Amino acid sequence: MINQLRVTNTLTRKKELFEPINPPFVGMYVCGPTVYSDVHLGNVRTFLSFDVISRYLQHLGYKVRYVRNITDVGHLENDQDEGEDKIAKKAKLENLEPMQIVQRYTLGFHKVMELFNIQSPDIEPTATGHIQEQIQMIEEILKKGLAYEVNGSVYFDIKSYKKSNDYGILSGRVLEDLVSGSRDLDRQDEKKNAEDFALWKNATPEHIMKWSSPWGIGFPGWHLECSVMSTKYLGKTFDIHGGGMDLKFPHHECEIAQSVGAYDKSPAKYWLHTNMLTVNGQKMSKSLGNSFLPEELLTGDHELLDQPYSPMTVRFFMLQSHYSSTLDFSNNALMAALKGYKKIANGLKLARSLEYFDDGGGVVNEKQVQQINQICDNCYRAMNDDFNTAVTISHLFNLLKKINSIQTGNLKPSEIGSVIFNKLIDTFLVFTLDILGIQEEKIDDQERLLKILLQFYKEAKMARDYDKVDRIRAELKKLGIVLKDMKNEIDWAYEE
Ligand code: AMP
Ligand code: ZN
Repeated sequence: MINQLRVTNTLTRKKELFEPINPPFVGMYVCGPTVYSDVHLGNVRTFLSFDVISRYLQHLGYKVRYVRNITDVGHLENDQDEGEDKIAKKAKLENLEPMQIVQRYTLGFHKVMELFNIQSPDIEPTATGHIQEQIQMIEEILKKGLAYEVNGSVYFDIKSYKKSNDYGILSGRVLEDLVSGSRDLDRQDEKKNAEDFALWKNATPEHIMKWSSPWGIGFPGWHLECSVMSTKYLGKTFDIHGGGMDLKFPHHECEIAQSVGAYDKSPAKYWLHTNMLTVNGQKMSKSLGNSFLPEELLTGDHELLDQPYSPMTVRFFMLQSHYSSTLDFSNNALMAALKGYKKIANGLKLARSLEYFDDGGGVVNEKQVQQINQICDNCYRAMNDDFNTAVTISHLFNLLKKINSIQTGNLKPSEIGSVIFNKLIDTFLVFTLDILGIQEEKIDDQERLLKILLQFYKEAKMARDYDKVDRIRAELKKLGIVLKDMKNEIDWAYEE
């Protein structure tokens, strides 16, 4: 390998050499969606970033176990453990069973992931599928004296935890900030301190999603599921924990406290956080009302868009920035991305069709060979530098220049020899398709393509070019399509 992979660890705030705990295995946990509404493009950015991270680790030869959860209970409207459960609230509003909401939005989420060519995780566990394990983890924390029960709810005791541990280690927040950032202390009623967070919440009789526990009927707090499911599937300490920057506090901070509290172990060796997709500089979010849904993008039906954009244009757009930088979503930025994507798509088409051929030359051009080797190395260097997809794309364009000059004849295959020729083509294809996950989007508007062909058929008939007429008929027949010569027009049908 050219140089080893470095990742920016949000925990230490440093770029570190990536060394898995148990190579070649890598355990990666990413916080998944809360399935109560459609995912927007901000969510897509985060899952897309981890998709590329997982793909690159696999390319380097690691055996990745990628776990991404589905939050289907316990995520309240407000991070201060207040408000209604987001899923239960939606279920009530639509007069549906909460699991119908969960099913609907989980399916929708999977469709969106597929649309953007985001690979499925290896395990996709749900919070409701792990209630027993969550109860067990609360019992561990209670045993350690780091939680307390009140009125059928259990809260994590931050003051006790802080006596021997560093709460705020990930987000860099200090306790005083946390308290002042919380609600008025008097209104925190049950909690001993405002910064404490719920592990288990007592359910009122009208609450719909609830389970029995040693503390009565209730439901788990949101932060607990990720600690439980990451431990279950990856171990008490695993390699990478990821999610959007907005989850650093309180969600991930609470996860660390829970794992250290229960097992004396920090859950992850490397914490990776993606930055936000913004609109006019403001975080894209459902609650701010500035979110873009995938179908608005595909139809172009949004006041900020001038035209529709395809999923691969958006994938390309998102990968043009580093995952830890903010990225602003706008029509102009998408227009620019569309141009770039088309170049890459043409490159894919060309690279797939090129094969080494003997052009009769014989002298190897060392300078060309050296340049191609250098650009291929640069692709690895860029990805090894904290998965820098933005810089990788610029090197892919340099590879593309070489590929294009083979097509135009400015660069002869014999000048570089078959080994370098194949390396050039393979590196471009592997980085584009397998690592960045950018595919060629096929035009599948059959109706329109047929209309064009039918027009040619009509013209050939009028010109009495029967040889051409027969050829068009025969070729279409092979595809199971028959042409029908009507009085005034030509139509087609499926061959029966
Ligand atoms: P949620 O369903 O809101 O919990 O979000 C699912 C994932 O998307 C989390 O990892 C969030 O951090 C991430 N996310 C939410 N909004 C954005 C955004 N505007 N840009 C990037 N990631 C986001
Ligand atoms: Zn989580």
